[in-house]
Amino acid sequence: MNPPIKHDQHIIIIGGGIIGLACAHYLSDHDIDILVIDQDGIGSGASHGNCGLLHFSGVIPLCAPGVISNEIFRMFSSASPLYIKPGLDFKLYYWLTRFALNCNPSHKSHGSAAKTALLKYSLDLFLDLFALDAFTDKSACELEKQGLVLAFKDPKKFEAYKKTNDWLAKYGFGGTAYPNEKLGDLEPCLKPHLAGAWLNSHDWHLRPDTLMKTWRNHLSQKGVRFLEYAKAQDFLTNEGRIQEVVTPKGSFKADTFVMATGAWAGPMASLLDTRIPVQPGKGYSLTMERPDPCPSIPCLLYERNMVVTPWESGYRLGGTMEFSGFNSPLDRKRLDRLIEGSQEYLSSPPGSVVTEEWTGLRPMTSDDLPVIDRSGDYSNLFIATGHGMLGITMATGTGKAITDMILENTLEIDMEAFSAKRF
Ligand SMILES: Cc1cc2nc3c(=O)[nH]c(=O)nc-3n(C[C@H](O)[C@H](O)[C@H](O)COP(=O)(O)OP(=O)(O)OC[C@H]3O[C@@H](n4cnc5c(N)ncnc54)[C@H](O)[C@@H]3O)c2cc1C
Repeated sequence: MNPPIKHDQHIIIIGGGIIGLACAHYLSDHDIDILVIDQDGIGSGASHGNCGLLHFSGVIPLCAPGVISNEIFRMFSSASPLYIKPGLDFKLYYWLTRFALNCNPSHKSHGSAAKTALLKYSLDLFLDLFALDAFTDKSACELEKQGLVLAFKDPKKFEAYKKTNDWLAKYGFGGTAYPNEKLGDLEPCLKPHLAGAWLNSHDWHLRPDTLMKTWRNHLSQKGVRFLEYAKAQDFLTNEGRIQEVVTPKGSFKADTFVMATGAWAGPMASLLDTRIPVQPGKGYSLTMERPDPCPSIPCLLYERNMVVTPWESGYRLGGTMEFSGFNSPLDRKRLDRLIEGSQEYLSSPPGSVVTEEWTGLRPMTSDDLPVIDRSGDYSNLFIATGHGMLGITMATGTGKAITDMILENTLEIDMEAFSAKRF
């Protein structure tokens, strides 16, 4: 029998979503024993049923000038793509106030620059990841680099998007306009009455649940260990360091801990008497067999704020943003609205066989920037959460940066904007 491998360091990653796996990935290139623990199955959180876009052109923070004035009257209607459940949740109202204060031109510039750096970094790292043997086969995650179509019904909004596109172009992510008469050249499944569309060819897409399985298998082969259905429910700490995490399956010691608990960052932080103001932003998706005809490029249906993603193995409609706390019931009205939305913009019928109805919680921060940092309260705790609508896209940059922080390597991009001390 081989003697047990002795490692330099033991690291526990709490949270087996895409961010936890990305951290494990870059850490596993070093002489480190890595245990990933999850309260549920690995990859069963927001990383499972999302739209699967590698949306590198998503540089503009969600809290941008005009968002509040444009959305305020729709926000409390349960039929709206953005919904806030009325009630007395002071943490949510504090978060919303911070979000509203960030809807200004200066945050738009600051946030766009910071996100661009992380998105470009992640893109380069994805190129390396997808060049690895485990990921080169199409079945590894159904990666396609065909871009993203933004489809508009309203001619004024289509025209106005030119300003947004000019902004994206400044950061190297501009797209191309297709007025109504050219729509057929772009994507034959777009309905002819639409005002027009923009194609952003910088974006890619993949099947996220398949990516999670492939990545987990790859990491297992590299020696990363996984413990499922083991909720981190308490910590033993001493003199500003975490010593052990307590789960129903036992207590585990490590030198270093990474908190990658997505939307659950807030409850997890309160176990440690620390604060990470992340709110769960509930989204929905419907996965079906491919319709005939099927779009070949993912489409963002602009006024509906939803995405249609085609893969060889299926078809997904996804979207909506509900601030209603931690809950998982499926609201049938929201699923129906995804189907209605696809019928308004696309000639493809909804897929006849539904394979999954899903809801997931995005980890939302009030400035729409992730938290990627060493904790200010515990010297051996690192935090990687708050990736909002772009956790799949920003995963590789996050995992690499957390690894460099833990190993005290020089960081390859400026991470100041993602500090845990900014709130
Ligand atoms: C409808 C929808 C569409 C989306 N589309 C896209 C898209 O196209 N592109 C994109 O980039 N992003 C998209 N996103 C966002 C993306 O899914 C998230 O940002 C990303 O999955 C977050 O990853 P994560 O690892 O931080 O969180 P998660 O995947 O939620 O993982 C966190 C994990 O932590 C575990 N956990 C929590 N608390 C504990 C505890 N106490 N102990 C142990 N484990 C714990 C959870 O079980 C979970 O598995 C979408 C999201 C939604 C909802």
